[in-house]
Amino acid sequence: MNILIVYAHPEPQSLNGALKNFAVKHLEQAGHRVQVSDLYAMNWKAVLDANDSLDGQAGARFDPSLDSRLAFEQGRQSPDIALEQEKLRWADAVILQFPLWWFSMPAILKGWVERVYAYGFAYGVGEHSDARWGDRYGEGSLAGKRAMLMVTTGGWEPHYGPRGINGPMEDILFPIQHGVLYYPGFDVLPPFLVYRTGRMDDARYSTLCDALGQRLDRLWSTAPIPFRPQNAGDYIIPELTLRPEVAPGQSGFAAHRRSSFAGDAESGPA
Ligand code: FAD
Repeated sequence: MNILIVYAHPEPQSLNGALKNFAVKHLEQAGHRVQVSDLYAMNWKAVLDANDSLDGQAGARFDPSLDSRLAFEQGRQSPDIALEQEKLRWADAVILQFPLWWFSMPAILKGWVERVYAYGFAYGVGEHSDARWGDRYGEGSLAGKRAMLMVTTGGWEPHYGPRGINGPMEDILFPIQHGVLYYPGFDVLPPFLVYRTGRMDDARYSTLCDALGQRLDRLWSTAPIPFRPQNAGDYIIPELTLRPEVAPGQSGFAAHRRSSFAGDAESGPA
């Protein structure tokens, strides 16, 4: 299988750097092909702007969506964007790996998403009409591929529990797992989470690598998070709200999952 790791940490000797190296080695030893987009090492340009098209802005004013579509359709995208899209086409599974920074991904990774997810590639795909709102949320260019987050946090696991002060981790990750990954079609696996990274020693690191290795071994067999597909009957079109008989009385993020799930936090002493 082909696996792309999109990795966002500025320090190669960090915990994230060590986990990334472990993951690459583990996957390669299992016979998989691995590519890593090491965004800091690549000096990845994080801001979306008119320079993302080889032709500069198309009209009198820069239109982020339409200029993206033109550049994508006409093969005029900046080569760094086109190369990342090629890696996504190549991959059977994609891992986004990052430390949680201000309750989200580091800016460099957000910029990777904004620039690589071009109009026509990751959104604006399929028929758009009153009867259908495109191929997305379960369908789209990246359908059939699997994706998983690998996230480290300073906060403790209970801080991210159902009543924890930071809010539940599955809610914090919803915009990434549902918005960034499920939207263009990925099957999204439960995340691999490492809490309380300030408390790490060799014994815990070893346990952590064992747990990560097991998750990587199950990349192809782990059940995806059961997000509700857009075009399978759960939603009224074109309002795209849940039908009254679907998840009655529920609202918010959880209503868009067929059942609740607990992310796969590393087991072992913390
Ligand atoms: P490191 O700091 O590199 O390492 C963590 C620990 O692991 C250290 O004790 C280190 O010695 C040890 N270690 C490293 N490598 C190894 C190894 N090979 N073997 C054994 N031990 C090792 N946290 C939150 O919970 N929520 C937030 O919103 C949040 N926002 C943040 C925003 C910013 C800007 C920053 C800088 C931090 C934020 N944090 C937040 C904390 C952040 O998530 C953690 O600092 C990060 O996840 C730790 O990962 P790291 O790779 O940088 O770890």
